[in-house]
This record gives sequence, C-alpha cells and structure tokens, in this order.
Amino acid sequence: IDPVKENYVRKVKNCVFSIAFPTPFKSRVHLVAVSKQVLEDILDLDLSVSETDDFIQLVSGEKIVPGSIPLAHRYGGHQFGIWADQLGDGRAHLIGIYMNRQGEKWELQLKGSGKTPYSRNGDGRAVLRSSVREFLCSEAMYYLRIPTSRAASLVVSDDAVWRDQFYNGNVVKERGAVVLRVAKSWFRIGSLEILAHYGELDLLRMLLDFIIQEHFPSIDVKEPNRYLDFFSTVVSETAQLIALWMSVGFAHGVCNTDNFSLLSITIDYGPFGFMEAYNPDFVPNTSDDERRYKIGNQANIGMFNLNKLLQALNPLLDPRQKQLAAQILEGYPILYDTRFRELFKAKLGLLGKSKGDDDLIAFLLHLMEKTEADFTMTFRQLSEITQSQLQELSIPQQFWALKMISKHKLFPAWVSQYLLRLKSNMNDSDSERRKRMTTVNPRYVLKNWMVESAVQKAERNDFSEVHLLQQVLRRPFQKHSAAETAGYSSPTPSWAKDLRVSCSS
Ligand code: AMP
Ligand code: MG
Ligand code: MG
Repeated sequence: IDPVKENYVRKVKNCVFSIAFPTPFKSRVHLVAVSKQVLEDILDLDLSVSETDDFIQLVSGEKIVPGSIPLAHRYGGHQFGIWADQLGDGRAHLIGIYMNRQGEKWELQLKGSGKTPYSRNGDGRAVLRSSVREFLCSEAMYYLRIPTSRAASLVVSDDAVWRDQFYNGNVVKERGAVVLRVAKSWFRIGSLEILAHYGELDLLRMLLDFIIQEHFPSIDVKEPNRYLDFFSTVVSETAQLIALWMSVGFAHGVCNTDNFSLLSITIDYGPFGFMEAYNPDFVPNTSDDERRYKIGNQANIGMFNLNKLLQALNPLLDPRQKQLAAQILEGYPILYDTRFRELFKAKLGLLGKSKGDDDLIAFLLHLMEKTEADFTMTFRQLSEITQSQLQELSIPQQFWALKMISKHKLFPAWVSQYLLRLKSNMNDSDSERRKRMTTVNPRYVLKNWMVESAVQKAERNDFSEVHLLQQVLRRPFQKHSAAETAGYSSPTPSWAKDLRVSCSS
C-alpha cells in the first residue's frame, strides 16, 4: 500500500471505510495536555508513557502502531436540514480498536491528522483553538455525567494552518493540532444514511448487524425485529442525551445527522457553547444564520434527525415494522419531556411527584429569561442558599445570580411556591436538599470565555490555563480555590460579553 496514493480525495462507493494514512507534521510537535484518566482507565497506560517520543509520534500521526491499518470512515448526512451527500472522516483517522483490561473495546481516532478520501475542499487539519475546545469539553461533559466521546491527548505542531480568523484586520496564522479521541463507536446516523441513499442495502444490513452485535447487547442479531428494537433504543437514548444537554445549558452548535452518534453519545465538538444568561434562543455558532441549532430547538432537531435515521432503516423494514417504527418515533416527545422533567426536578431538589412541578420549573426559567440570570449559577446558588435565607428574601452578596433574578417582581411568588413544594418532600431536610442539589448542579462549566482565555495563552505555548481547566472540570460539582481565583464561578468578565465562536476549525 502506498500511503500517499490512498489519501486522494474522491467519491467512494460500496464501502464503509477507506484505507487512509495520517500525514505527519513537517515541524516539531509539542505535547499540550493528556487526560490521565483516559490513559490509565481506558488505555491501560501509565501517565509517564506520555512523556516518551514514541507516544508523541503515535498521537501526532507520525507513526502508526505496527500492524494497524488506519481508516477513514465513509458517511453522509443532512447538514442544516439538507442532504449533503458524501461527507466522511475528512480529517480523522481510526488508528485502531483497543481492548483494555476490563475487556472493553475502544476505537482510537486521531483528529486533525491530514487528508483522507473524504477531505473535499478541506486541508485535513484542525487548529489549536478548536482542538483545545474539543479536548477540554469532551472531558468536561464526561465529568458532568453526560455520554460523550473522550479525549486522551492533545499535541500542537508549528505547521501553519489558515482559517478565517482576523485580528486587527489581519488574517491570523494558526497552528495545526491533533487530538487523540476515543469512543466505543464513532458510527453516526450519517453512516447509515449514505448506504441507504445509494441503495447499498447488503452493506447497510451488514453494518447494522455489526453495530447491534457490538454495541446493543440486549438485542438479538437473529431477531427479525432487531432493527425496530435498535431504532427504539436510539430514539429513547437520543431523547435522554438532549435532555441532559439542556440540563447543563449545553448547545452543541451543529446538530447535523452526521454529528449524531448511533450510540447517542455527544460527538463532534465544534462551535458548541454553554449558555450563560438564560436564553432559549442562544446560538453558539456565528455561521448559523437561521438559528436552526439554537439551544431551545435541540429537542426538535433530535426528532428531525431520528426521522432521517428511520428513513435510512426503511429499506430493511416490512410494512408492519414501518408502521411500528413510526409509532416509536411519535413517542419521542414524551420520552424527552419525561426526562427533562426528571432532570430539572432534581436540579430543584424536588422529591416525589406534584401536579405543579412543570409549572414551577417553567416559571423559574421564565424569570431567568426575563432577568438574563446566569443559568448555571442560578441553579448552583439555589443549591447553596438555605431555605430560611430564601424565605426572608435576604440574598447574600455572593449569590450574584440569585440577586439578579430576584429583581423580577414575581420572584417572591416563585419562592413561595418553591418553598411550599419543598415541604411536600418526604423525609427531607434542608441540608439534605442542598447536598443533593450540589451534586447535580455544577459550579463550573466550560463557558466560552474560559476556553478563549486558555486558548490565547496556549497560542503562546503557555498551557497552564488548559491544565487548570482540566483539573477544575474534572470535579465540576466541587469548589476549587484556583477556579474561584480565576473567576470561573463569577459573572462573565466584560471583555467576553459578546464572544461567539465561528465554525471554522
Ligand atoms: P463538521 O461540520 O465538523 O461535522 O464537518 C463536516 C464535514 O467536513 C466532515 O466530513 C468533516 O470531516 C469535514 N471537514 C471539516 N473540516 C475539515 C478539514 N479541515 N479538512 C477536511 N475535511 C474537513
Ligand atoms: Mg462532523
Ligand atoms: Mg467538526
């Protein structure tokens, strides 16, 4: 195999993967960060390994594991609602599947490692800015207990990569970086869509059976209704995932079908954002002019994407199964609403059931929207304030988000409804409530201004803030003194008020 010959851009038919070799950087490569937990707990590696030249060469695409044949995955997808035809891993290489000591299989992927048959007009590279974002956020999501791909390492080279970033009117030179990321599987809705689109039905069946066999152990691959069971699982897990995103104010930014995992894990961290001031119209991506992927629309987009998944499965379903599948999809909004309610009830420390719970949640969100109170910190501070402080409406200065929301004239009305509802919690005390709430309401999420500041330093080869964020976000529910000093639980600094992220990455 001639590695260079395999990498030319082309339209590919009748396959799921193409052989594609990473392209080494021309200049020196620096290690920016590693995730100790991913190395040790997933890859059975000792942290000290990350200091070796071998490691750097492997995770930058300079060298491949002997015997491994790196691959780029062929997939398609609907981008911003429109069929985009062939997409595929345009700058990612699957370098192997690792089975660890626990017997778990993990797919190792490099991102930013050069051109593949699927690069289209792209250069196959990823800049440091977006790689820091993916590295930090995927790990942060894991520690928020949200299903996600993980990140093992991040390296940066001195090779120039050009994107549409401007500073004082000049185009900024950026540097190419590579993230080693791992997931149980990288297959997406688009993986199936492309096969269905081109009528490659034997391959579609083969891939689905493989995915079911490997990743859906509760489904029998010989069972005639297996695709229906598979669909049903993806529908409920997707509802669950999006409800989880909403519970931490996470907007993915590019919810195209090629970025929606069949295992319902969060993948493809691009122009994502954690909402600061509560706003259902929050759009993190500057290029999303129609505001299609605004935070408040993610649940609907989930439905759209699942519908595209169903269309891809349709050629394998008989008429009765098609009917049942349509019914399963109809159940999605209820699954989503149920999960959303459960999560927000936990965020408010509510136990048991009460008729007014939905209203109580909606009322609070309405007040947050009107006062633009910080989403994360409002919930966090409700977890820290005592009931008696709330009752007297004497809000201490440090609870700045609650001070903000309390400016609304209906805040006292919400507080009295809330306190009344807390009384119906069985076998509860105020300290128990606060303890419970502080384990579900994070004190720290990766707001864009925090990454921005870490990236600015990283551009100058100062990776200290990347490391600090890594440390803090590993325990997002615990107060951390360096994080407090850095202002990570304080109001957003004024320099960052209008920060938005472009999708160029
Ligand atoms: P995304 O918007 O990140 O989901 O990417 C959409 C498609 O564009 C995927 O097929 C990517 O692999 C491809 N792509 C994005 N950036 C690049 C790049 N710099 N070089 C090659 N392909 C890219
Ligand atoms: Mg993508
Ligand atoms: Mg992307």
